[in-house]
Amino acid sequence: MHLIFRYVRPYLKRMSLGLVIKFTGTIMDLFLPYILAHIIDEIVPLQDLRLVLKWGVVMLVCSILAILGNVIANRMAAWVARETTRRLRHDLFRKISYLSNRQIDGFTVPSLISRMTTDTYNIHRMVGMMQRIGIRAPILVIGGVIVTITLEPVLALVLTCMLPIILAIVFFVSRRSIPLFDHLQKSVDTMVRVVRENASGVRVIKALSRSEGEKVRFERVNRQVMADENKANMVMAASKPAMNLTLNLGLVLVILVGAWRVNAGLCGPGAITAFLTYFTIILNAMMSITRVLTMWSKALASAERIESVMAAEDQLTPQPIPATHEQAHIVFENVNFSYNNKENNLEEINFTLNRGESLGIIGPTGAGKSTLAGLLMRFYDIRSGSIRVEGKDVRAYDLKELRAKFGVVFQNDILFKKSIGENIRIGRQLDMTRLEQAAKDAQAAFFIEETGGMEASLEARGVNLSGGQKQRLLIARALAGRPDILILDDSSSALDYQTDARLRQTIHKDYGDTTTLIIAQRVSSVKNCDKILVLEEGRMSGFGTHDQLMQSCDLYREISRLQMGEGVQA
Ligand code: ADP
Repeated sequence: MHLIFRYVRPYLKRMSLGLVIKFTGTIMDLFLPYILAHIIDEIVPLQDLRLVLKWGVVMLVCSILAILGNVIANRMAAWVARETTRRLRHDLFRKISYLSNRQIDGFTVPSLISRMTTDTYNIHRMVGMMQRIGIRAPILVIGGVIVTITLEPVLALVLTCMLPIILAIVFFVSRRSIPLFDHLQKSVDTMVRVVRENASGVRVIKALSRSEGEKVRFERVNRQVMADENKANMVMAASKPAMNLTLNLGLVLVILVGAWRVNAGLCGPGAITAFLTYFTIILNAMMSITRVLTMWSKALASAERIESVMAAEDQLTPQPIPATHEQAHIVFENVNFSYNNKENNLEEINFTLNRGESLGIIGPTGAGKSTLAGLLMRFYDIRSGSIRVEGKDVRAYDLKELRAKFGVVFQNDILFKKSIGENIRIGRQLDMTRLEQAAKDAQAAFFIEETGGMEASLEARGVNLSGGQKQRLLIARALAGRPDILILDDSSSALDYQTDARLRQTIHKDYGDTTTLIIAQRVSSVKNCDKILVLEEGRMSGFGTHDQLMQSCDLYREISRLQMGEGVQA
């Protein structure tokens, strides 16, 4: 609620103007039956056609004002709703991009996506609806009741008898339907998640012939959504006939009582005609209020979901940790880290790298290799110990300043639906020669030329490229900024041995000042690194040069033997 108000506040003036216009239009609507009653009961008996025509023109003017007022006010309302949502989405997107990885893990990505889309849309609808129906309906109900009382107090009594029944229906329906809609929203979230998993994992699902299983899984959530939707709409649907029944019963009563009063000469037939119209207007307005209430509660639930993201505190702000005066470029000192703050995913990691040195990190899957590289960029904060870059703790850096030092290629990095050049540049101030050089260094120049040059367009996620081509483009992107620190996380796995070797030579030769971390599965990829770190279940099981490790580290020797054959120093 607070959130919605905050975003609507800048438009309060415009909304008030819209409200005045809406108010005028609605009042004009209310006048119409009243004038009709006046014509039938008082003007027609005078048998003066000119007077009838005059009042007819008044009615016409009122209708035009009513329509114009409503259209203008609705357009203004739509504008406010659009602007509110645009700003809300903008801020939410910004906030999400600053969330720490730990917070993203907490919210989960599919949930953040549905907060960005469905939830902001609910707020959009609510802000629009409140200004259109939320204002019009109460005016119609209150104004209608006032006019009917002045018009025919006795018939107004009939209306008064019907009101409690209607209120009871509104109350019952909203109480039942609101939780049902909440539940429906959750089922839709699950469905979105399943579709997402399915779409991103489509290859592995096909490869493992899991398509049937996935269909069953999707069918299950799909049915759940259908069942929930059914339930919610059943309740909503029940409200319509109940309302209509009440409305029509009321109309019958009005006609009965009205007929009796007209016969007794207590009121004119025109008043009865007007009364019937008011009766319908009022009850329809009450039904609209039910809809507004449902939307309102949905939007409030959405606002809460958005607010919880917005309220997430900034976890990665710089901390006052004193710097050391060490020479080393990168230092890991007694680093312990855990994703869930229970068992450690990395334990007692210690190593030092000088500027320009290369570190190979090798070890089984799940050993913590990517985690270690991520910690260096402060994706997560460590439990204890210290990670320093140029003598300064990574937690003491302004995050932008820290991350500007890096060029990285992670597993599953993505390419955008843009030109090749733009994909390498990604918004940085880099001239074309720099991009071309980076492409050449990443061994990508040849195939870029073949694909149509830097201007050639890529499909979303680079689906029109081979795995090796994608990797080379991503490496070009990382090299283009001439980073202080280069991290290549399993990014040469799809390259053939020769290209991989050439790439490493180029980095060694032309990026001498760049400290490089190469995470790899292949011993050949790390063999020539200045230092190699062998990780096993989050612990260092060896650290040194290839030759040293061949002597001292069983795991390293074992991996080497499996990959290159015993004794072969490829
Ligand atoms: P590697 O790169 O060596 O294959 P990772 O660094 O990716 O290994 O993972 C190390 C361990 O941390 C694994 O057990 C993995 O399940 C766990 N892990 C990785 N990312 C997360 C995460 N975001 N949340 C919780 N656990 C994670």
